Amino acid sequence: MDAPTLSPASTAPSPCAGTVDPALLAKYDGLRVPRYTSYPTAPHFTPAVDASVYGGWLEAMDLTRSGSLYLHVPFCHQMCWYCGCHTKIVARYAPIAEYLDHLRREIAMVADRIPGRLTVRHIHFGGGTPTMMAPADFESLIALLRERFDVATDAELAIEIDPRTLTAEMAAALGRSGVNRASLGVQDFDPTVQAAINRIQPRETTERTLEWLREAGIANVNLDLMYGLPHQSVESVARSARIALEMAPDRLSVFGYAHVPWMKTHQKKIDESVLADTLGRWEQFAAIADTLAEAGYRAIGLDHFARPGDELAVQQEEGRLGRNFQGYTTDDADALIGFGASSIGALPQGYIQNAVPFDQYATAIDEGRLPTGKGIALTDDDRLRRDLIMRLMCDLSVDAGAVAEAHGRDAGVFDADLAAMDDLVADGVAAIEGRRVSVPEAARPLMRIVAARFDTHLASGAGRHSRAV
Ligand code: SF4
Repeated sequence: MDAPTLSPASTAPSPCAGTVDPALLAKYDGLRVPRYTSYPTAPHFTPAVDASVYGGWLEAMDLTRSGSLYLHVPFCHQMCWYCGCHTKIVARYAPIAEYLDHLRREIAMVADRIPGRLTVRHIHFGGGTPTMMAPADFESLIALLRERFDVATDAELAIEIDPRTLTAEMAAALGRSGVNRASLGVQDFDPTVQAAINRIQPRETTERTLEWLREAGIANVNLDLMYGLPHQSVESVARSARIALEMAPDRLSVFGYAHVPWMKTHQKKIDESVLADTLGRWEQFAAIADTLAEAGYRAIGLDHFARPGDELAVQQEEGRLGRNFQGYTTDDADALIGFGASSIGALPQGYIQNAVPFDQYATAIDEGRLPTGKGIALTDDDRLRRDLIMRLMCDLSVDAGAVAEAHGRDAGVFDADLAAMDDLVADGVAAIEGRRVSVPEAARPLMRIVAARFDTHLASGAGRHSRAV
C-alpha cells in the first residue's frame, strides 16, 4: 500500500486547509511530542540545577544585554474543567496576599543577586488569573519591578485576563501601571460548550472587558480560542472564530484541548463521549484557521494568528520570531527571569523552574533561599539543536547546515537526522532539499513531529508530552 499523504487543496487560503488522509492521522494519532516552548523541554529538567546553581547564573548576568520578566499568579476563582495550568481555586484573598508577599521577597532576592540593574523590555503576568490581585497590590508590584529593574519606557507589559472576573477598577489600574497588552481567555462562545467546560462567559462579558481595556488605553489585545473541547464541531468553532473576529483582536491563539485526566483529575468531569476524534480535531483547527485566514490574519507558527501589520507577523516575515513559555513572542531577550511558584526562566546558561507546590516555594523564600525546584544546564549540542528546532517551529523551514555553521560546527552535523526522515518526507509531513528541512503548509499542525526528530532528549520523556495531532 502507498504511504498515506497530505494533499493541500491548491486554492485554499488557509494555512492548514487541505484534504487529510485519515490513514495519516491514524498513523500519528497517539504520538506524544513536546510543544517546544523550550529545548530541552521541561520533563528533562532535574534537581541538579538548584538554588546555588541558579544564584551563580544570576550573579554572572551580562548587564549589557536586556532581560524579560515572567510573573506567575497561580490562583483562580473557579476551575475550568479543561484546565492544564498550575493553579489553585481560592475563595478568599488571604492566600493571594500571602503569595504576593512571597513574590515581592523573591523579586528582591533575585534583584540582589544580579550585579547591577538589568534593563527589562518585556514583562508578562500569567496564571492562573493574575487579575485576581487587588488593583492596589498590582500597582505596588509594578512599582517594585520598576524600582528593582530598569523597565524600558517602550517595554511591553502584558497580562492574561479572565473576562469573567475582571473589574473596571482593575482594568483602570492596569492602564495606570503601563500595561499595554492583554490576553483574554475566551475558548468558545457556544453556551453548550461553555457549560461542559464549567466556564460560563457570555459574549457580552468579553465585549465589556474589551471596552474597559480600551478605555484604560490598552489597545493590544489577544484572544485565546480552543478546539477539541466537548460538544465542539467544525461549524461551532468557525462560529466562535467569527464572533472573535467581530471583536477585532490583534492576535489570536488557537490551542487544542489536551485531555489528560490521569494527570489533571478535574478533567474527569469532561464527558469523553462528546470529544472529537483525531480527524475531528484536525478539521476543527482547520475551520478556525480558514476563518481567520479569510479575514486576513496571518498564521504564525503552530497556533497563533496575527493581523498583517502586527509585530508578531512582521517578525515572522523577517525570520526574527521567537518562542518561549508563553508561545510565540517578539521577545528576544537573552535572559527571562521567572517569578512565582512553578514559573520557568531561561538564562544563557540554561533553564530554571521554581518549586511548584506553594509550601515548598514559600518555605524556600522564608528561609532566604531562591525557590528553585529544578532546571537544566545547556550543553553546546543543546544550544545547536535548540536553534534549529526554534527556527523550524517559527519559520516552518530551516537550513540545518547554516545553523550548524553558525555554531562553529561542520555543516553536515545534522545529516544523520535528515537521512532518518524519509518516512516523514514520504508522508508529506516534511520536505528536504539539500540540508534545508521544511514543513509543507498542509502539514503545519504536525510541525512538532518534524522538530522532534532533532530532539536527542526525547526518548527519555516521550510519555509526558501532549498528543501530536
Ligand atoms: S481561568 Fe485559566 S488557569 Fe484558571 S482554571 Fe480556567 S483555564 Fe485554568
